[in-house]
Amino acid sequence: MTKTAIVIGSGFGGMASALRARKMGFHVILLERLEQLGGRAQTFEQDGFIFDAGPTVITAPFLFDELFELFDRKLADYVEMMPVSPWYRYEFIDGTHLNYGGSVEDTLGEIERINPDDVQGYKNLLAASKEIFDVGFTQLAHVPFHKFWFMLKQVPALIRLGCYRTVWQFTKHHLKDDRLRRAFSIQPLLVGGNPFSTTSIYSLIHYLEREWGVHYPRGGTSALVAGLGKLMNEVGIDIRYGQDVVQIESQAGAVRSVRLADGQQVEADLVICNGDPAHTYQNLIAKEQRPSWSDRRLSGLKYSMGLYVLYFGTGKKYEQVEHHTIVFGKEYEALLTRIFNGGEAGDDLSLYLHRPTASDPALAPEGKDTFYVLAPIPNLRHGEDDADRRNQIKERVLDILESRILPGLRDNLEVCFDFAPSDFQAQYRSQWGAGFSIAPIFSQSAFFRFHNRAEDMKNLYFVGAGTHPGAGVPGVLSSAKVVEHLVAQDHPQTAVDSEWQTV
Ligand SMILES: Cc1cc2nc3c(=O)[nH]c(=O)nc-3n(C[C@H](O)[C@H](O)[C@H](O)COP(=O)(O)OP(=O)(O)OC[C@H]3O[C@@H](n4cnc5c(N)ncnc54)[C@H](O)[C@@H]3O)c2cc1C
Repeated sequence: MTKTAIVIGSGFGGMASALRARKMGFHVILLERLEQLGGRAQTFEQDGFIFDAGPTVITAPFLFDELFELFDRKLADYVEMMPVSPWYRYEFIDGTHLNYGGSVEDTLGEIERINPDDVQGYKNLLAASKEIFDVGFTQLAHVPFHKFWFMLKQVPALIRLGCYRTVWQFTKHHLKDDRLRRAFSIQPLLVGGNPFSTTSIYSLIHYLEREWGVHYPRGGTSALVAGLGKLMNEVGIDIRYGQDVVQIESQAGAVRSVRLADGQQVEADLVICNGDPAHTYQNLIAKEQRPSWSDRRLSGLKYSMGLYVLYFGTGKKYEQVEHHTIVFGKEYEALLTRIFNGGEAGDDLSLYLHRPTASDPALAPEGKDTFYVLAPIPNLRHGEDDADRRNQIKERVLDILESRILPGLRDNLEVCFDFAPSDFQAQYRSQWGAGFSIAPIFSQSAFFRFHNRAEDMKNLYFVGAGTHPGAGVPGVLSSAKVVEHLVAQDHPQTAVDSEWQTV
């Protein structure tokens, strides 16, 4: 008899798990509380401007290819992936900039222009990043980390690679120029970590970008989400929107069903949860059924930073602005300390500016530009983002952009709305409104992160940013591979229902 797998949540991790479970022969029901797919990769549209809410930098696109190949399909038949160049433009406070991307020689040329003393250092940094990547990504990102002995076995390799150092220490060791140190140490921020406290294993992200480049799906990340949605429909996954799961129910220590906010009960042989694990344990599972995750333990976790995102459309085009721009403020360590350790973000913000219309003009009405700007800020543990605070950040962000990147911005704004930690909490059920679930510090990575297989309830699995290997699109797609592996171990006799082959 075909077994039923329920997937809670349709972030990239949830969709990937739904497809992998379907391929294994399960009848798959995907329950999403929002009215569209994608989770943090949802889409907003206003007056002809199309905004990707979250991920915009697509690295390791082969992880998407794999999902289509499961069903003998090709990603290219669903969505066109376009290489982006440069990958990022870094704007420094002294008025200099660095275009990063293209070939290694292109990058070395840019470094030579900024500071010739760092050319050799960059070569060394790239080589060291590759070594970490070969272990941290190639060998370990897709394998389960729920056994302590397995973690212990990795320790010698991690020590040899110097992973007891932070990303900042790793970068500082190789580069002398403060601007370059900043540019090549920000990678942990892409997955919710402070470069000054995140283990240098995350320096592998640098090589990951180099290995496969940076891509953008034509039509935006939403086109990728739509492509996955189409595939899920074709292979018979039952997608249900507006379904808020409020309880995961068990019997004799094993998952039995989930309860929805409207009281409906949906039975399942297994549940793969793509919701934030901290929120799920605290709110969807009765205390006595999760002895490994007491409220006390959950409250001791450290969360990633919050994000303030301003989506806006302009009545004119800013042709000189690249697709991805990082705008550094004056401070770096001090800003990050305020963001991660509490307090106000302050006025001296660093920003990520997204201009998708640089690659794909169809995302805005003709002659206009679509943008979003993102500022890392403290999460809700450090205070509420009430209207005053939001407005203060918005004005500061507009000041920085207007004076440094987008002259005359305020006069050209046609559409403008924001999304802040309280929206992350309300929409995605993210604990403390964190942008990327728990922070990727050593004591919350691999074995120490939320396990992909629940400790206390049989047939409950976790996929997505809060689990191993962690946040970011490659991370959550890899976590779906880990879950597949565990489900296959636990359900070796799953009847292969190959109905999808004929639809
Ligand atoms: C602004 C922003 C920019 C980013 N940029 C990049 C980038 O450029 N590149 C990159 O690689 N990564 C980026 N990231 C990180 C990346 O987007 C995330 O780590 C990843 O998309 C998270 O996927 P996930 O599988 O964990 O699910 P999520 O996207 O967190 O989705 C979880 C889903 O579960 C649903 N859900 C939760 N609880 C329930 C419930 N009880 N019942 C029903 N449904 C529920 C939620 O509604 C949501 O749809 C960015 C993140 C943000 C926020």
